[in-house]
This record gives sequence, structure tokens and C-alpha cells, in this order.
Amino acid sequence: MTESDLTAGSEVDSYCLKCKDMTNHMIIAMADGKIAKAQCNVCGGRHKYRAAKPSKSTKAKGTTASRAAAGTTLKEKKATAAFEALLKGRDSSESKPYAMTAIFNKNEIINHPTFGLGVVTSIIPANKIEVTFKDGVKILICVLPVSETPEPAKMKKKKIRKVVKEAAA
Ligand SMILES: [Zn+2]
Repeated sequence: MTESDLTAGSEVDSYCLKCKDMTNHMIIAMADGKIAKAQCNVCGGRHKYRAAKPSKSTKAKGTTASRAAAGTTLKEKKATAAFEALLKGRDSSESKPYAMTAIFNKNEIINHPTFGLGVVTSIIPANKIEVTFKDGVKILICVLPVSETPEPAKMKKKKIRKVVKEAAA
């Protein structure tokens, strides 16, 4: 017997949420050749026809997803709070558009095309800055202010001088 042979009044197996089991049901209503509503012969409850027991894996998946979403929200909230604290009392109109070739200083407000407004929270030699954005901290590439950039040439000279001094002594 196929589903299309069924009519209201026919008996069919359906999952009953009250009985928490597959039970014998009587069809109450059909819609488009399919069972729309059934009545449980065990508890007498009327409900939507369920051909199978709701799978547990679907439930578990939903729980994991909602848990992950909650975690992200909390993290985002924290990041937003840190970002707002950094911007407090400051004029965001003084922001500088972000560019890899631009020079940024610590505490400067930058405007990134993707991440939006951010505050430079750390300078990382030789060519990176740590920026706190509304949705988290990101590391960006940029040219550092001259004073923050170590000069390899000078360092080499110092080392040579030291070696010469040691040789003389
Ligand atoms: Zn039932």
C-alpha cells in the first residue's frame, strides 16, 4: 500500500510525541495525496503525521551550533567593549585610512576598508601593527615610524667596533 492509496480513516504508523514511540494512528486529514494529520490509537492525541522518529543527530547538531554561536557572541561582546574603551573620548573623525604604505603610531585611530575603525594598540617591528577593531584584534602590515625601526646598518657598525676593541685589549 502506497501513501497515495491512503485516505482519511486508514490506519498508519506514525511517530507520536506524547507516546514517544512509533504507534498505530488513524488518518484524520489528507493534503495533496499526503497524510496531513493523524490520531494516535494509543493516546488519542491528534497531531501532524510523522513518518519516522525525529533523529537524535539533528537535535545534537542544533545544540552544538547554538553553543558555538553563543561563544562567538560573547567573544565579540568582549572585543567590542575593548574597542569602545579605546575610542572613548576620542574623535573618530581623526581616523587615518589604512594603507600598507602609510605610517601609523601607537594609539592612532585607523579606518580599514574591511574591518572599519580600529585603534593601533601595539607596534610590532619590523613592519606590523596590532589593531583593535570592533570585532577583535588583527595584525596588519604597515611601514613603521622611523624611530621604531631598527637600523641594521648601525647595529652592524656597533658590533664591528666591539670586535675591534676586544682585539685591541
Ligand atoms: Zn500517542
